[in-house]
Amino acid sequence: MAWFRRQTAPLAPRSAESRVPEGVWVKCGSCKEILYRKDVLKNLSVCPKCAFHFRIGARERLDMLFDGSWEEFDHGLVSSDPLGFEDARPYADRLRAGKAKTNSFDALVSAVGEMGGRRAIVGAMEYAFIGGSMGVVVGEKVTRCIERALAERLPLIVVSCSGGARMMEGTLSLMQMAKISAALARLHEARLPFVSILTDPTTGGVTASYAMLGDLNVAEPGALIGFAGPRVIEQTIRQKLPAGFQRSEFLLEHGMLDMVTDRRELKETLVRCLPFFMD
Ligand SMILES: [Zn+2]
Repeated sequence: MAWFRRQTAPLAPRSAESRVPEGVWVKCGSCKEILYRKDVLKNLSVCPKCAFHFRIGARERLDMLFDGSWEEFDHGLVSSDPLGFEDARPYADRLRAGKAKTNSFDALVSAVGEMGGRRAIVGAMEYAFIGGSMGVVVGEKVTRCIERALAERLPLIVVSCSGGARMMEGTLSLMQMAKISAALARLHEARLPFVSILTDPTTGGVTASYAMLGDLNVAEPGALIGFAGPRVIEQTIRQKLPAGFQRSEFLLEHGMLDMVTDRRELKETLVRCLPFFMD
């Protein structure tokens, strides 16, 4: 039984508060400054003092990227809980709780709208829904985004924010990696751009498939991006990892990313890049 019981202390949660907490005043987890919540929200959930990027939801992200209104599609896709999975609590319960929290049936919102006056398809992941994990529904929704981009000849942007594949769906969730990658290959053959936006955190099977397959891979500052966690890597290679390992800036320096862009300049950057691919 020792194998199944944790011998070491669990990993400490990220010291910085990742989402803008409720209340009139919020404390930035990074610089510890006390901030007026409205100022933080007006600043696209970026700390006005130190530029710490708080985590944002999928719908906020879409509001931020599109010019005005946007149209959601494939809203109603729901996981069928193919394994009847249960751990600390039934997977079906977790799905219901996720729905109540985010008003979405799964961890990705797909939408079409205009960005800088140009139509584009954006899929935004929702971390609040079971850690933004990728199961059958996320896989299917990303694939349908790609198929729609192909049919209408539109650029595709996917904003990742995910802990990786959803273990409650076992192999079926891992299969999404291959399915999405194959669909992206068709997008590539059609000469249509895919821009991957990596936000904090982008890990596991999402990094190992579409998040790293962009024609442009753009990350937000300070985002955790990796496949396995640092402790697992340290134990495997028996070496101490360098400072800043698995953060955006480190990955950019090592050629894994094309850009690290402040959230406040993200849309503008995309609007500037898309014509290069499309025209
Ligand atoms: Zn701060």
